[in-house]
Amino acid sequence: MKEILFLEPVFKEMIWGGDRMKAEYQYPIPSDHTGECWAISAHPNGDCKISNGTYKGQSLSQLWEEHKELFGGLSGDRFPLLIKIIDAKQDLSIQVHPNDIYAKEHENGSLGKTECWYILDCEEGTEIVIGHHAKDKEEVKDMIEQKRWKDFIRTVPLKKGDFFQINPGCVHAIKGGTLILETQQNSDITYRVYDYDRLSNGKPRELHVERSIAVIEAPFEEVRGDRAKKEYDGYTIEHLVSSPYYTVEKVDITKEATFSQTHSFQNISIIDGKGEINGNPIKKGDHFILPAEFGSYTIKGEISYITSYVEK
Ligand code: ZN
Repeated sequence: MKEILFLEPVFKEMIWGGDRMKAEYQYPIPSDHTGECWAISAHPNGDCKISNGTYKGQSLSQLWEEHKELFGGLSGDRFPLLIKIIDAKQDLSIQVHPNDIYAKEHENGSLGKTECWYILDCEEGTEIVIGHHAKDKEEVKDMIEQKRWKDFIRTVPLKKGDFFQINPGCVHAIKGGTLILETQQNSDITYRVYDYDRLSNGKPRELHVERSIAVIEAPFEEVRGDRAKKEYDGYTIEHLVSSPYYTVEKVDITKEATFSQTHSFQNISIIDGKGEINGNPIKKGDHFILPAEFGSYTIKGEISYITSYVEK
């Protein structure tokens, strides 16, 4: 019988972070400026440790190196995904990510970054930055260099349960009052386009204007996720997105459901409720991996989760 790999989150303090993850998930956050919880991560900047069983105390990156069988022998030199919860008390800077090709060449062999956001909660009237209004690359450059932010930045209204796929080259930012679950490629490469002219310790934070201009796609094209919902007896599965890097789904269980884990691995993040999986207690805020060949599992309880996996 394969073991479920429960993970210990790594917390990141950020100038824009808050204290919400303490009340929401009972996390032992380090301060009231905690912006990110790296929940399933093998990235060197926040490598999660296994909290149970045979591999207790080992890092996810170590398992990836030494126990390839847990990941179905998936190729690649690093665990491919990174799952975060982000608590934005203040607006985040406006950013863009490179693709794999640009990152490999300009960022020391790093992966590019494709990511997606499930909105766990947001304050009434909150907006989100997705895309821009420039008609072509030339206008992107002009608007950024001339600091025409109002003309440039595209915002849309936001509500709980919304979902956004953010491809490399897409300008994006979450605003204060937003709590999200992010599923992304295992990369930490971000180019800051604009930081609302804020000061951090008396100085503006570094911007990456040239790299941003180089990677921003123009014109902006909205990616609409296919949110097909399938209802079964006692549970529903909602497809959020399939991309070359990940497939993400939301599952809501009302009483009990039995599934089979047939992917190279499967990430699960409990976003609401509590219950059990194969007899192990699980609750809101837990994150775990079902390894390769895990086989059948039964989840009981009233519980919602976001799950992700990669296609072989
Ligand atoms: Zn991003």
